[in-house]
Amino acid sequence: MITIENGTILYGKDIGAIKANIVIDEGIITEITKNKVNSGKKIDASGSIIAPAFINSHVHTGDSIARDIGDGKSIDEIVKPPNGLKHRILNKTPPEMIINEMRQSMKDMLATGTTTFVDFREGGLDGIKLIEEASKGIPIRKIVLGRDDSFYDKEIRKSEIKRITKTLLKSCDGIGLSGFGEIRDEVAQLITKTCKKHGKISAIHVAEHEKVQKESVKSTGKSEVARAVEANFNILVHVTAPIGNDLELISKSESSVVCCPRSNGSLSVGIPPIMDLIKHKINVLLGTDNIMFNSPNMLREMEYALKVTRGNYREYFSPLELFKTATKNAVKAFNLNNGCIEEGKIADIIIVEEISKNPVLSIINRTEVKDFKYLIKEGNIVSKKVV
Ligand SMILES: [Zn+2]
Repeated sequence: MITIENGTILYGKDIGAIKANIVIDEGIITEITKNKVNSGKKIDASGSIIAPAFINSHVHTGDSIARDIGDGKSIDEIVKPPNGLKHRILNKTPPEMIINEMRQSMKDMLATGTTTFVDFREGGLDGIKLIEEASKGIPIRKIVLGRDDSFYDKEIRKSEIKRITKTLLKSCDGIGLSGFGEIRDEVAQLITKTCKKHGKISAIHVAEHEKVQKESVKSTGKSEVARAVEANFNILVHVTAPIGNDLELISKSESSVVCCPRSNGSLSVGIPPIMDLIKHKINVLLGTDNIMFNSPNMLREMEYALKVTRGNYREYFSPLELFKTATKNAVKAFNLNNGCIEEGKIADIIIVEEISKNPVLSIINRTEVKDFKYLIKEGNIVSKKVV
C-alpha cells in the first residue's frame, strides 16, 4: 500500500486540480481523500503535481535504429513500405541491434512519464517477436499492432489475408496498417472485420498530407478518410489534410484520431487540425510517431502541439484539452483502465516538481526529466535504475 500526501492532483476525467491524498493498494487507486491516512508507505508530494502518466498513442519503435537518418528526403523516400529508407535499413540490421535500440526507446518513454505506448510493428510475426524480446523486464505497458508484407500483394486471395490476420492477432493487440496507398479497400475491410470479430484493434494511417488524399480521390473517387471510415477502422492516424466532409464522417463514426504534430512538422507535411477535430467532437489522441525523426517524449510533443496549434489557428487553444489527448482520451480508444486519477483506476501516475502555479501548463511548458520525483506504474514505483 502507498499513500501519496500533500500534492496537487490533476483529478478525474476533467483533469481539475485538487489538493488531496491518494491511497494505492495492489496497483489500484482505492481512495482519494482530504483526510489523513495512516497506513502504507508514504510519499510526501509537497510542492509537486500528481498527474496521470502519459499514453503515447502512436509510435514506431522499430526505427529507433535509424535516428535522424534521411533528414531532408521526401516522406515516400523515408518511410513508404516496402522500399523506403527506413525499411531498407531495418532489413539489413541484425535483430539484436534493433532490439537494443527499441529497449532504449522504451526506457526513454518511462524517463519522460509515459507508461503506455501503442506500437505500429512492421515485419509480421517476426516483428512482433522483436518487441516482445525488447520489452522483457521493462515496466511499460505496450499495445502492439502488427502487419504483414503480404497485405500489399495485389494478387493475394481473401482467404489468405484472413488466415494471416488471424495468425498475427494471436500474438498482438490488433493490426496497424501503413496506409491506403499500399493496400486495396477490400483487404482493409477484411482486416477490420477480422479484428472486430476477435475483439482486437484496427488502425491505419490516413490523410497524412494533401498528395495522398488527391491520389485517393483520383483512383477511387473517395478520400482516404472516407475509405477508412467505410472500413470501420477504430484508429485513424494523422488526418492532417482532411478534405470535403471528412471530419463530419469521422464524427459520425466510432473512430478516434491520433495526431502526431512533430512528425508532420519533421516531414514538412502540415499541422494537424486539432481544434477542428475537437470541435467536431472527435476523440483526439496524441502520438510521437517514428522514432527515426522524433524522440518518443510526450512532454515535447505536448508543448509543440499546443503552440503550433495556437500559431496555426491564431486563436487560444486550451492546454487542458491538449493534456487530455495524452492521457484520458486514449482510455476510450484502447479500452484502458489507466489514463486518469480516480478511485478504481490503475495507478499509473507521475509526480513532478510544481514549477508554476498553473499545473497543466507547468507540465507542458516546463517539466524536464530532472523534475520527475516518482513514476508509478500499476502501483509500483519504477526505479531510477530501470529508467
Ligand atoms: Zn506512423
